[in-house]
Amino acid sequence: MASRLLFRSAVRAFTRTSAVRAAAPARHMSAGGIPSDEEQATGIEREILTALKHGDDPYNMLKPKHYKGTKEDPHLVPSINDQRIVGCICEEENTAVIWFWLHKGEAQRCPSCGAHYKLVPSGHHH
Ligand SMILES: [Zn+2]
Repeated sequence: MASRLLFRSAVRAFTRTSAVRAAAPARHMSAGGIPSDEEQATGIEREILTALKHGDDPYNMLKPKHYKGTKEDPHLVPSINDQRIVGCICEEENTAVIWFWLHKGEAQRCPSCGAHYKLVPSGHHH
């Protein structure tokens, strides 16, 4: 009994899917092709795609740029506030992360390894 019910709903699901598939090509042809991600994106997805096109990364989705961490080339940390928590790994193979608050203004140093970090304002709001 249960297997029959499952089979029926599977058949229904299949018929629905194929109906959608059959209707889809006609719609695409009249619209002139399949819309790209950019053409059909809305809301936050659209905001991200537009920002990426202009070289921005509002939600830190890309790998961060490499900074030396020296006084002349501090790690730049974008923030929408006047402070942000930073985790420093100090040395490449460390398993512990040193967490500290980074405040707006002058560059600050990691309390453990002394690497320089500087907060930079981010124009994007979450
Ligand atoms: Zn450190």
